[in-house]
Amino acid sequence: MVQYKTEAIVLRLRKYREADALVTLLTKERGKITAVAKGIYKPSSSLRGGVQPYSINEMMLDAGRSTLHSLLQSQCLEMLLPLRQSYDALTLGAYWAELLENFGQEEMPEHELYYLAKAGFLGLAVNAGKLMSRALEVRLIQQQGLSPDFRLCCRCGQPVTKDKVCFFSGSEGGFLCGSCAKELQELTRISPAALSLWQVLENLALDKLTRLTVTEEQLGDLAKVLRQWIVRHTGRPMKTWSMINKV
Ligand SMILES: [Zn+2]
Repeated sequence: MVQYKTEAIVLRLRKYREADALVTLLTKERGKITAVAKGIYKPSSSLRGGVQPYSINEMMLDAGRSTLHSLLQSQCLEMLLPLRQSYDALTLGAYWAELLENFGQEEMPEHELYYLAKAGFLGLAVNAGKLMSRALEVRLIQQQGLSPDFRLCCRCGQPVTKDKVCFFSGSEGGFLCGSCAKELQELTRISPAALSLWQVLENLALDKLTRLTVTEEQLGDLAKVLRQWIVRHTGRPMKTWSMINKV
């Protein structure tokens, strides 16, 4: 028995055996882990209130001898009710959880990632929308040390073209100069304002986002390139993209 206490965010909950659940957690002390919540679907279970998806909890776990931990106790610290009261917010919450699950490393404590995850869910609870979602993507990529080069072409090292249009290719590895863009069949054209927005979002606190004035075009362009960047680094499209296309 190796018991430990940690703050943890529930990223995903799925049924397991008769009345148990498997819970994917992002914990402050041990990074991403999977735990069994025994008997959680029994009416008498005291665990149920502390494993709601996207809630922030104080948990007691047992690391045991396998990779599967056991959830012993959970006390909800923040239920994030506003996130559950709107379909759009809940969908963006599900997307944020999916991103965290894909970028987080098993059993790798990353306090910064934990704080970003928590700030993200708290942010979505008060201001769920496209801009918050783009900001979270940008911050997660930045926190993981995966930001692209905004100045130099990823192919030849010349300055990136930013006059009237910017060229981007997720498969090539980022932004491009005009000469390289001419040689490529598959590339995405976005406005220079969308590239600037990516850089602005790296430095602006999440609770200051409402101060920004952004256009639908900027947000749409940024979404296109961020999705390519996410696929480049996770190896696959996110499942929740089909749900959030309207959000
Ligand atoms: Zn180039």
